[in-house]
Amino acid sequence: MFSYRHAFHAGNHADVLKHTILLAVLKHMAQKDTPFTVLDTHAGAGLYRLDGDYAQTSAEAAQGFVKLMAAQTAGQVLTPVVQDYADMVASFNTGPQARVYPGSPFIIQQQLRGRDKLKAFELHPTDAKTLAANIAQLEAGRQVAVLREDGFEGVRKFLPPPTRRALLLCDPSYEIKTDYPRLNAMVADALLRFATGTYMVWYPIIPRPEAHDVPRKLKSLAMKAGKAWLHATLTVKSSKLLLGDDGQTVRPGLPASGVFVINPPFTLKASLKDALPQLATLLAQDGNASSTLDTGS
Ligand code: SAM
Repeated sequence: MFSYRHAFHAGNHADVLKHTILLAVLKHMAQKDTPFTVLDTHAGAGLYRLDGDYAQTSAEAAQGFVKLMAAQTAGQVLTPVVQDYADMVASFNTGPQARVYPGSPFIIQQQLRGRDKLKAFELHPTDAKTLAANIAQLEAGRQVAVLREDGFEGVRKFLPPPTRRALLLCDPSYEIKTDYPRLNAMVADALLRFATGTYMVWYPIIPRPEAHDVPRKLKSLAMKAGKAWLHATLTVKSSKLLLGDDGQTVRPGLPASGVFVINPPFTLKASLKDALPQLATLLAQDGNASSTLDTGS
C-alpha cells in the first residue's frame, strides 16, 4: 500500500527542522497549567535505531542531527531552541554516540504532563504495530493512544478537545498526490471545529506545484479564519539535477522543507530568528543553504 518508511529518513535535516519547532511549541504549551491534547496525524514508528538497516541505507541522519551533535562537541554554542532539540535527542541515548532517534510521538510524549494527552495516528500496518509496541514500553497508559486509522479523517472526532487546548501536527509522507488536497481540507475543517488550536504542518520543498502551493493555501486558510501564522523554511543544498557516473541526471535528494504553523505560540518567531540561520549554517551541504522566517496575522 505505502512505500514510504520514515526509518530511511530519521534524523535528516527535515526532521531537525520539524522536531526543533515541534519541541519549541510543546515547551511553550506546557507553560500553562490547563492540560492539552496533541494530535499526531502521521506518527510513523516512534523510535528509530540509527544502526538499523533502514537508517544505515541512506545515512541521512549523518547529514542531519549528527552534524549538530558534532558541532556541539566541537564547542559550538547552539541557540536555545537548537540546544533544547540536541538535549532532547541526547536524552534518548546513553553513550556519546547517538544510536536512537526519536520520532514525533516520542518527542511529544516526553513533554506531556499528567493530564495532557496524545493521539497518534499511523496507517502503515508494520509501522503502526511497531509504534504500538514502542509506546507500550513507556507504560503511559491512557495518556497515549495509538490509532491505526487515517489521520486526516481520524482527528475530526477529537476536535474540539475537552480542555480547549490542542496542537495538531500533520506530517504526511506526500507519497500519494491526494495528500495535498486532503491536508487542506483537514486544516479547513479543523479551523471550523476549533479555531484556536495550534496547527503545525511539515511539507517538502520540491519541484512540484502541489508542494509549492502548501504554504500559500495554508496562509489563505489562516487569513480567512483571521488567525496568526508562521512559516519557516530550511534549505541545505541546491535542487538542481546532478550528473550521475553513468551520465544520467539524478535528483539530489530532498534539498529543503518547510513548516507552517497556524496560531503559533507568540514566542516562536523570536525563538527561531537565530535558530534557523544556525541550522542552515550547520547543516549546509553546499553553498545554497539558507533559511526563511515569515509571520502574519
Ligand atoms: N511524524 C513522524 C515523525 O516526525 O517522526 C514521521 C511521519 S512520516 C513522514 C509519515 C507517516 O505517515 C508514515 O509512517 C506513513 O506510513 C504514515 N501515513 C501515510 N498515510 C497516512 C494516513 N492517511 N494516516 C495516517 N498515517 C499515514
